[in-house]
Amino acid sequence: MTNEVLHRVKFVTLGCKLNFSESATIGQQLAERGIATTVKGDEEPDICVVNTCSVTSLADRKCRQHIRSLIKRHPNALVVVTGCYAQLQGKSIAEIPGVDIVLGNEQKGDVVDYIEHWLNNHKPALAVTPHKDIRTFAPSCECGDRTRYFLKVQDGCDYYCSYCTIPLARGRSRSGTIASIVDQARDVARRGGKEIVITGVNIGDFGKNTGESFINLLKALDRVEGIERYRISSIEPDLLDDEVIDWCAGSRAFMPHFHIPLQSGNDEVLRLMRRHYDRSLFARKVERIHEAMPHAFIGVDVMVGTRGELPEYFDDSLQFIGSLGVQHLHVFPYSERPGTMALRIPYIVPKAERDSRVARMMELSDRQQRQFIERFLTAERPVLFEQPPHGSKVMHGFTDNYIRVNAPYREQLVNTVTTVRLGNTINDDLSVDVAKTNN
Ligand code: SF4
Repeated sequence: MTNEVLHRVKFVTLGCKLNFSESATIGQQLAERGIATTVKGDEEPDICVVNTCSVTSLADRKCRQHIRSLIKRHPNALVVVTGCYAQLQGKSIAEIPGVDIVLGNEQKGDVVDYIEHWLNNHKPALAVTPHKDIRTFAPSCECGDRTRYFLKVQDGCDYYCSYCTIPLARGRSRSGTIASIVDQARDVARRGGKEIVITGVNIGDFGKNTGESFINLLKALDRVEGIERYRISSIEPDLLDDEVIDWCAGSRAFMPHFHIPLQSGNDEVLRLMRRHYDRSLFARKVERIHEAMPHAFIGVDVMVGTRGELPEYFDDSLQFIGSLGVQHLHVFPYSERPGTMALRIPYIVPKAERDSRVARMMELSDRQQRQFIERFLTAERPVLFEQPPHGSKVMHGFTDNYIRVNAPYREQLVNTVTTVRLGNTINDDLSVDVAKTNN
């Protein structure tokens, strides 16, 4: 391979929205620099980029499987591994025969330079900056599900929850500037985007390194012409200020939709997890949202079976979460992570018990979500319809308050916000068919 020809690059991205957004940005940079275009269909790649995740031990295993399988299927391709697993296990990944370049999270913004360098001299590279020294903010924005854009505004985390390796993998909290993020949002509008999901690792911490504030970011984004909808991907409860909630309620384009990680509804478990709040603070935030936006959808992350979660703590947590009146639970079973403080907690929840707790939490989630959707059956709500896969006869979209709806495919509705009347039944997948569209 030489860099005189345009190469073909294949991406394998694992993990969070942030990773997908960053992979898309690397793809754009490769195309803009005339180095490579993304493979289509079964085309043979010359370059494989694996953007890894390390959120659980299962994620680690999946990364290794993907790397090995890519090397086997494309033995002549340049193989680049980056992301959180590369940050944490860079050396052992570099030892896998067939891996050419391993880059940690500080180097994510320079992946294209490393590829270009390799194309010129074929020298392997391993570059991983220790997490405490990670400073660079690599901007990224991706058109995720063919219609909505995921815009990264912040990276890293300074919280060190006892079960989490993300601060070790992503480094310290840092953000882009409001001016640079607004520019990216304007660019999305120029490309015809209507909805932006604001993403990051701990986005309520936005501006820590720049002296700017999260609410001022929201206000500036709200003024960007052409963007009709924003959603905040996830925000820590202690950083979700009442001012932010009240402002969102009266904003032009921020949707009545919040996603807040709770992790446990028991204060002793929250303490063991080293979370930055107790459950009464969480309950106050939910109440405030409901007061300001009675029709809002609130999604909540819950981790079950963490070390130290005695059966009575779990029962207490389940009961508390059931009393909150939130709409959806994103339930994760606890997974042991090397290097975390949680490993010092002696009580381990057996796997079978962990699985049964996941099932009980999911049942609660299902019930709460159905009750919420029932309130809006036969009501009118605005929906942004997404581009369906080629040849599909059905299209999907989300209401302002995050109810998934289905409608027969009509090209003119794609990427438009349309008022619809919802049908009167809830499907098994918790979506609702549209009874009538207003255009
Ligand atoms: S807030 Fe806690 S769980 Fe979230 S990324 Fe930071 S350390 Fe991990």
